[in-house]
Parts: sequence; C-alpha cells; structure tokens
Amino acid sequence: MFGLMQDRPLMISSLIEHAAAFHGDTEIVSRLPEGPVRRTTWREINEHSKQVANALAELGIEQGDRVATLAWNSDRHLALYFGVSGSGAVMHTVNPRLFPEQIAYIVNHAEDRVLFFDITFAPLVAQLAGELGTVETFVAMTDRDHMPDIPQIPDGRLRCWDDFIGGQSTAFDWPEFDERSASSLCYTSGTTGNPKGVLYSHRSTMLHTLMIAARDAIDIHSGSVILLVVPMFHANAWGTPYTAAMVGAKLVMPGPHLDGQSVYELMKAEGVNQSQGVPTVWMMLFSYLDEHPEIDAHELGLRVAGTGGAALPLSMIERFHRDFGAESMQGWGMTETSPLCVVGRLLPKHEGLSDAEKNQIRLKQGRGVWGVDLKIVDDDGNRLPWDGKAFGEVWVRGPWIASGYFRGEGGEKLDAEGFFPTGDVATIDPDGYLQLVDRAKDVIKSGGEWVSSIDLENAALGHPAVAEAAVIGVPHPKWQERPLLIVVLRKGHHATREDILEYLAGEVVKWWLPDDVVFVDELPHTATGKVLKLKLREQYRDHRLSQPE
Ligand code: ADP
Repeated sequence: MFGLMQDRPLMISSLIEHAAAFHGDTEIVSRLPEGPVRRTTWREINEHSKQVANALAELGIEQGDRVATLAWNSDRHLALYFGVSGSGAVMHTVNPRLFPEQIAYIVNHAEDRVLFFDITFAPLVAQLAGELGTVETFVAMTDRDHMPDIPQIPDGRLRCWDDFIGGQSTAFDWPEFDERSASSLCYTSGTTGNPKGVLYSHRSTMLHTLMIAARDAIDIHSGSVILLVVPMFHANAWGTPYTAAMVGAKLVMPGPHLDGQSVYELMKAEGVNQSQGVPTVWMMLFSYLDEHPEIDAHELGLRVAGTGGAALPLSMIERFHRDFGAESMQGWGMTETSPLCVVGRLLPKHEGLSDAEKNQIRLKQGRGVWGVDLKIVDDDGNRLPWDGKAFGEVWVRGPWIASGYFRGEGGEKLDAEGFFPTGDVATIDPDGYLQLVDRAKDVIKSGGEWVSSIDLENAALGHPAVAEAAVIGVPHPKWQERPLLIVVLRKGHHATREDILEYLAGEVVKWWLPDDVVFVDELPHTATGKVLKLKLREQYRDHRLSQPE
C-alpha cells in the first residue's frame, strides 16, 4: 500500500523561490573581482536567476545541457547556481586554479555549451578559446565598462553579463522534472590522472541541503551570517549556497580577495558569525593578525569557524577560541560525497570536560550525519571494529554519494554492498567519531608500522614559530620510509631544526620523530588549497636524512 502524500519532485528551484518569498530582504554581500562590494538580496538573486534561465532559453540550452563557470564566489555566481540548475541545465563549476590544459580537458569532456567567466579569467579564456570546441557562447560576468577585449572569440559569441542577463525578463516558470535529473557537475582535482566528473542530481542536492542545516550538522539558520570562503567551484561550496537559501541565511562572499586584511575587514563590516573555508585561508588571516597586535578579533563576534578539506590543527582550534572567542568545527567529505559525511561536534556528555579534553575530540573529523553509512575495512575488504584503534580505508554509502564518475571514467567504483571507496584511512571510535590517519596515498610506512602525517603536522603546528607544516615519507634503506617535516615559519619568528625536534619529542612517540626538518618560504598547494604532497614527495625523494641509522 502506498502512502497518500503528494509526490512532489525535490527541485533546486524551490530553494530560491522559498528564499525570495520568506527571506526576500536578507542580504547577499559580494566583493566583486572588479573591486567594490555589492549588496543584493535573496529577492534579487531570484530575479537574476530567472533572467539567467531566460537567457539560456534564448540560446537554445536544453535540459541536461552543460553550462560552465570559471568564477569566484559572488551574487552573479549564486544566480547561476539557481538559474542554470533550476531551468534543467547542468551547472558545471570549473576550478580556475587548475592547469589550463586540465581546464580545456574538463570543458571538452563535459561538452559545455556556454561558459560564464569572471574578468579575472579573461586572459585564461583568451588562451583557451580556440580549444574549447563545444562552447558556443562566452559570457563575461561584468558590466559594460569592464568588458574585456578577447579577439580570440569570434564576433557575437562574447556577451556581457549586464546586457545579456540584465536585459532579460525577471519572470520565469521553473520547470518540474524527474528529481533524479543531473543538476551540477564538478571535477575532482585529479592529482593523478585526468580529472573525473562528479554529477550531482536535484534529489541528492536537496537531501544534502536539508541535512546540512541541522543543529548537529553545520547549524545554518536565518540568523547565520556566513563568510563563504570555500569556493563555489569546490564541491558546490560544501552545499552552503543551497542551504543558505533554504533557511534564509545572509551570505558574505569575498570573491578573489582572500588575503588576511580583506577577509578581516569584510568579516567586521558584515557581522559575520560563521565562516567556512580550508585551514590555509585561516592561516592567512592569522598571519595578518600577527602583524596587527592592536586588533582584538573578539570584536568580530565570530561564533563558529568551520573548516574542511584538510585536517583542523589543534593550534587553530586554540587560537580561534582564545583570540576570537569562536568554536572551531570541521567536516569531512569529498567532491564525490556532495561533500558532507561526518561533522566534528561535541556530544552533551562532553559538556563537563576541560577545554583541552574537548579539543582532543574536535581534532577528530567527526561523527556520521544521517544519510551516510560508513565502514572501515582491512586490505581484504573485511569490516574493522569501531574501537578507535583499528584503522582501514573508509567506504561510504548514501543518497548523496557518487555511484560512479561522469561518462563511466574510472570504471565501476562501488563494492557489492554499494559502498564507495574514499581513499582515506581512518579509525572510528565507539561513539562513532571518525578520525583520519591519512590519505591512503600519503601514508608513511616505517618498519611495517604507520606514521600519521596528519598527527605529526598537527603536533608541529603546536610550536609557536610554525605557521604551516607538511610531513611526507622519504625512502629509507632500513625502515622503508621515514618522516620528513617541511616547515614554513611564522613571520618574525625563528626556530632551528633542533628546536623543533626537541619540541616534538615531548609531543609524539619517539619512533614517529621526523628524521629531518626542512625550512621553506612556502608550501605548494593544490587547486583546492591543500598542501600538494605529491610535489613535495617528488622534490624530496632524494633528500638525505641526517640520522640514517
Ligand atoms: P580535492 O581532492 O580535489 O582537493 P576533495 O574536496 O574531493 O577535493 O578532497 C577530499 C579529501 O580531502 C578527502 O578525501 C580527505 O583526504 C581530505 N579531507 C577532507 N576533509 C578533511 C578533514 N576534515 N580532515 C582531513 N582531511 C580532509
């Protein structure tokens, strides 16, 4: 017997309609690539997304066609999120930090018909235009005064946002269709091999959106003022643009201006109480504050500093608490998982713990949210116990987890139970807290035992002179591999190799101590802001360890 409830499809367009109807005056603040800060509202975003939909219809874009963006976080990008997916086309967010040849590969692989781009990327578009065979129309996301001149694009195929989108009607009836239809497309950064496309659906997006808002997940509501640092081209900005529309949160978007000063000023001016970004961005903010000891970051009123994409270091948890009065919280997931799978929040039973004890829990990536089944398995695929000790590869299953890659790249991914392999290695404790040991490919194997680069980096970041740290395995004749610590020092601070090793000796077991410490001015980062360990491993492959016994 079926229930007698209405079978309404879960559509992304319903989010923006709701935001406009019930939170129409709530502001969306963007610092544009052109420089100035622009204020819009959810009501206007709805109108602009309908103008986008009308413009796409004028171009003959049909349901399922891919529409690409090369853009920073802004209200225009937000209007595209709703306008493209809402009209039935597929919103393809391209990561502009990838190598140009990867971008060309991705756009061609996706067969994008339209490419929207911020003027920052005009030189990139000029360089690639001739190679992007499927792109019929290029739209520069700017006004007439800032229109770039790109002679490589034939006449009539380069349009200006303000004319092309701004000239359309703000009336549009969102179509209804199968909720399993594709809504957006995002390629993984592809540190090995070609990038692979993850194709989200309206249904997967809507369920993920509902889950994120919950108090025990990211806790987003109408009182949230969110600094959205995580790029909209990185796993749909962790789903926050959709959830913000669902609950009417105010979004504050920094565009390309991610330096410490710009971020601080924007947070202060807009009353940001929640922030989301990879840890690297907060390190930039910290280094600005180091240079300005007169600033009291408490005045920001930041409540929660949300991180993801890389491990949240203890030193960051402590600093957000001490200097900002803010709680740090991390989520774990990947592009293939929409992305949220687990969130690092405390349970009521932890209330009586000391700050130090609570921080040890915050260091764990977190507990599974509803909708995500987790398992850790050994090399033979057997499930491992949730005892906080056994570690193995994490596999996940759920309605917002990929079943495979776009156009079948990478082959069959799921196991017999329908779980997807994450390539991350972790423990899970009896309370369900997942703690990452490493990415499988970053694991350091020393004498048959594992050294967690995440834990070692965390320990190194506890040294007051260390701004950023990376640990990699370097080949060793006796132990197979030994850890090498690569450090960026904080501005104005000094420390020697011996200082750091002495400090670490008090923090980690003896056989985990790095065999050497190398100081560098900066670490290489991936297109999504993570330390590029592949490059470090190549660079230091022949590094001679100074204690080779
Ligand atoms: P990319 O690999 O393209 O940077 P993803 O966002 O898909 O983009 O990366 C997902 C990976 O990031 C995860 O598999 C995991 O290794 C790492 N990661 C994500 N969140 C965390 C976290 N909270 N702590 C440690 N690592 C994390």
